Amino acid sequence: MKHFTEEEKIKILSDLIAIKTVNENEIEVANYLKKLFAQYGIESKIVPVTDTRVNLVAEIGSGSPVIGISGHMDVVSPGDESKWTSDPFTMTERDGKLYGRGTNDMKGGLVNLALVMIELKENKELTKGTVRFMATTGEEVGGAGSKKLYEEGYMDDVDYLWVAEPSHDTIIYSHKGSLNLRVTSIGEAAHSSMPELGYNAINPLMEYLLEVDKKLNGDDRKNEVLGKLVMSTTIFHAGNQVNSVPEKATAEINVRTIQEFDNDEVIDLFNTTASIYNQGGANINVEVTMSLPSVFTSGQSKMVELAKELGKKHLGLEISMKGSPGVTDGSNLLRGKDDNFPFMMFGPGETKMAHKIDEYVYKEYYLAFFDIYKELILGLSK
Ligand SMILES: [Zn+2]
Repeated sequence: MKHFTEEEKIKILSDLIAIKTVNENEIEVANYLKKLFAQYGIESKIVPVTDTRVNLVAEIGSGSPVIGISGHMDVVSPGDESKWTSDPFTMTERDGKLYGRGTNDMKGGLVNLALVMIELKENKELTKGTVRFMATTGEEVGGAGSKKLYEEGYMDDVDYLWVAEPSHDTIIYSHKGSLNLRVTSIGEAAHSSMPELGYNAINPLMEYLLEVDKKLNGDDRKNEVLGKLVMSTTIFHAGNQVNSVPEKATAEINVRTIQEFDNDEVIDLFNTTASIYNQGGANINVEVTMSLPSVFTSGQSKMVELAKELGKKHLGLEISMKGSPGVTDGSNLLRGKDDNFPFMMFGPGETKMAHKIDEYVYKEYYLAFFDIYKELILGLSK
């Protein structure tokens, strides 16, 4: 029989926090978990995404239902490390909180998923069904890891999916999509005393962006859970000298999409608007740099009901249900699934804590989620 002690659970999390995976190097976390799984006879598979970045997939049990559990191995930059009270990569406990980059988003959730797998296997507690553990790379920067898992068919037979992202007392069952575009306007340089000899790249791009902004942010379509699409132009670069007409201007735009006004329709609108400007003499080119669809599910499933009950039991909290403006690996993993697919994001840590200086997870909740996850799998695989 294997029962991870509190000390072991804390030690393993602190080992993972010490492995710096700031948008790279997930392979070290994958190797750590692979080794840990192997100690308990669980085979796992490294799924490469690039030469240096990998996913890890492990499985226990057999047949249906297939329960998919997922978490990402990368973390965001700690920012100015001098602003942290203690070293971001040395997990430190203060006042019942575990501090460190990734404690909350989301190595806390990831470790729980892995340790639950081990106990279920070691104690032969899983009597029916399959649990598929999917640890991903590059979630914070476009979800290349989850895209790979989807493409390689790891989601084809999955009946339930939850992502152990920090959500504390809330179950997120739908979220917006995210779309990044880069728009470049090419003109012709000239001295600003004789602008007629050139073509100012800034002017058509400004007009274009304002027009697209109006079309997108002014659109009335609304998702019942997620609200309206939102678009922001976030980067604008042009020119390098005050008395030169610029030959190039570039803008980057982020759009948070909904099912009713999805990524394809937005891309189409950017392109058709560009071609209208281009017929008028501009030279505007649109490039999609990231496209993650929104996730919309009904939130009505055995999994969500059970998670709510278990949340109340182990956290002592009333668990609420929400949609979220932020994306998860669910965007890729749920491609092609319908609205009734049981999906949720539910994990230790608070959503608002993600990406912050002095990131922490409450130790009590980190530990409680182990029991929630274990009972949830046992409840679903019955
Ligand atoms: Zn995350």
